[in-house]
Amino acid sequence: MSTLWLRRAELEPGVVRDVVVRDGRVAAIEASPKIADAQVAIDLACGALLRGLHDHHIHLFALAAAWQSVECGPPAVENEDDLAGALRDASTDREGGWLRGVGYHESVAGPLGRKRLDALSPQGVPVRVQHRTGAMWILNSEAIERVVVGVDGLPSGVECDSAGRPTGRIYAEDAWLRERLGDSAFPDLAPVGRFLARCGVTGATDATPDKDAATLAAIEGAMRSGALPQRVVAMGGLEAQPAEDSQLERGAHKIMLRERALPEFDALVARIEAAHRQDRGAAFHCVTRAELVLAAGALRAAGIHPGDRIEHASIAPDDLVSLLCELGVAVVTQPGFVHERGDVYLRDVEAGDRPWLYRGRGFLEGGVGLGAGTDAPYGDADPWRAIRAAVDRRTREGASLGPKEALTPERALALFTSPLEAPGAAPGPIAVGDAADLCALDCSWTKQREDLVRDHIALTVREGELIYQREAG
Ligand SMILES: [Zn+2]
Repeated sequence: MSTLWLRRAELEPGVVRDVVVRDGRVAAIEASPKIADAQVAIDLACGALLRGLHDHHIHLFALAAAWQSVECGPPAVENEDDLAGALRDASTDREGGWLRGVGYHESVAGPLGRKRLDALSPQGVPVRVQHRTGAMWILNSEAIERVVVGVDGLPSGVECDSAGRPTGRIYAEDAWLRERLGDSAFPDLAPVGRFLARCGVTGATDATPDKDAATLAAIEGAMRSGALPQRVVAMGGLEAQPAEDSQLERGAHKIMLRERALPEFDALVARIEAAHRQDRGAAFHCVTRAELVLAAGALRAAGIHPGDRIEHASIAPDDLVSLLCELGVAVVTQPGFVHERGDVYLRDVEAGDRPWLYRGRGFLEGGVGLGAGTDAPYGDADPWRAIRAAVDRRTREGASLGPKEALTPERALALFTSPLEAPGAAPGPIAVGDAADLCALDCSWTKQREDLVRDHIALTVREGELIYQREAG
């Protein structure tokens, strides 16, 4: 393996050292090293060297799909001509491959079926368009032929006309559709991998629940090919999981709670216990107070296992913070939502609950381990925007949301540099022997703590290999 010599790296304000990376690890940190065998030497010119960032909660395929999908509804697309134009433009970029549209609404071109969609589609291009509700896909004839070929007995969600021919409308058959689409069901993860590397991200936890074996294999394939150069932990269900020797690491069992239909307590405890028997934690999606109370109660009944965690904990008054501290479970928060959704929260969330929204300091002072994720594509994928929101607690419109919850830039950065397998644990200074998952800035930390932007990332290293280096000039 190659040796990488990072010269003049600022390890903490005022402390500049040379950092030698060998065999994927930090091999030496020296004031004036006598190293002759470095194959690559990069002068950081006193730019800060940080641990690589970890996005502790992201949805990789949903993000890739969102970036590669054609908007098929308002405000981007208002009528038939807009829709035909959007599909045509996208198909020239994609050289005849599948087109995936999202956000269709009847206000654009009325009820859509295969014939109408054929008239709007580029010649010979298979197109599938998702309705805005997410409950229906509309396929053109080219797409229908590819999906239906060789199938006898269509599932009930595939609507057919009186002659038994598919109308192009498919209701709630996502799993079937994905199976029929095969490899083309999975969007390319390379743009996601590149963007994350450019932000200094060297590790990510995919928080999508119930991934099937095909989804896990597709993520692993992207890792093996280098399309996704990050370390990845996959949360998921109790059945399909990464194999022991997979590059993809096995994460917690994800449990979605919905206040309107909460599961029965004993069944929930049994699920946690089943995850623990697989030597995994349980990760609870909790966005309301009631969901958090239920999750904490169920975890207490089942007993705690390493890796147990709460996603979001969107509303957490002091009594619940104490309960989480007592249990010793970490919270993975989304400070980016303070910025992105804060104005809506200020309008819609009861005044009494607002101080407990996406807390920062309250969790830390209450003794709860706190990590963070972007929740992209449901939040902005740039972790630096989330870090900045954790510091300034400003909404998009500039209002202040929970200013008492503000963190220092150092503490906010640590939300994203805590270990991938233990969000909320203290990251500690870069030391000899550490995995060389690093990112370097083009400026000092003193400058970046004011700016907190991804533009200062000069290079990103994962296991000793450069996965991003900004071009000069
Ligand atoms: Zn999520």
